[in-house]
Amino acid sequence: MINNLAQVLKLQSQSAAGSFNILDLDMAFSILDSAEELQLPVIIGIASRHFDDIRAPLLVPSILKAMETATIPVALHLDHAAPDQLEMIQKALDLGFTSIMIDGSLLPLCENIAVTQKVVELSHSYNASVEGEIGGIAGEEGVADTDQDAPEETPYTNVAEAQQFINETSVDALAIAVGTAHGIYNCEPHINFDVIKEISAITNIPLVMHGATGVSDKAIQIAVENGIRKINYFSGLLQTAMNEVRLCNTTSNDYLSFKRTISNQWSSAITEQMKLFSNLSK
Ligand SMILES: [Zn+2]
Repeated sequence: MINNLAQVLKLQSQSAAGSFNILDLDMAFSILDSAEELQLPVIIGIASRHFDDIRAPLLVPSILKAMETATIPVALHLDHAAPDQLEMIQKALDLGFTSIMIDGSLLPLCENIAVTQKVVELSHSYNASVEGEIGGIAGEEGVADTDQDAPEETPYTNVAEAQQFINETSVDALAIAVGTAHGIYNCEPHINFDVIKEISAITNIPLVMHGATGVSDKAIQIAVENGIRKINYFSGLLQTAMNEVRLCNTTSNDYLSFKRTISNQWSSAITEQMKLFSNLSK
């Protein structure tokens, strides 16, 4: 069933929902298959940087149809829309997205607040939810080849600024900088669990962690224990597919079975992550 992000995250009292970006319908089906199998709510994301490339306006009606028939709550999320992409946000809402992320984290706080307020007002009039970001998460969303050094001097999200941001914007969820980065890490990142704990102590809104690919299971579990309620995982899905391409030393032209193999591997990877995020793998 189609839900907005706030509805999906409301179901996460002690656990986190997985948010997985897609590049095609096969990826969306893998996510829905895993969520159905586990009977867990889930978020299907499309990154703003992929919106035009994957022809989102043509793809989205099929995704919504599949979401409608799903037995579990599913949100359709526009990931990392930038402050200069308000037109894309409008288009996404008109298409039926139920969740918008406005990433104004590179702006000064007051400008981030102003643009987020604007997106909240617009999105809420569509009954869609909004995820804001404060603190700036390293690396580029949607590019799995960024080879991140785990950030050493990360500007972790400032607790007082987070409080002000939440109060003044009425966002439904907040992405915070806790030491993770987008892309594939060169070494294990150092996650600042205190920042998660401190921000979760001052607010009831769900906190979001980006860049989960490569973060240890233990660190994910502790992050969830401390208050993370939505986890974005994407680079690992690209890695899974490309590993299969590299392994596929064949003269066969059976593209369909090759596609099926990748879809099955995506489902396994997504199922594993969803179990981890929801404490089912302990
Ligand atoms: Zn992100």
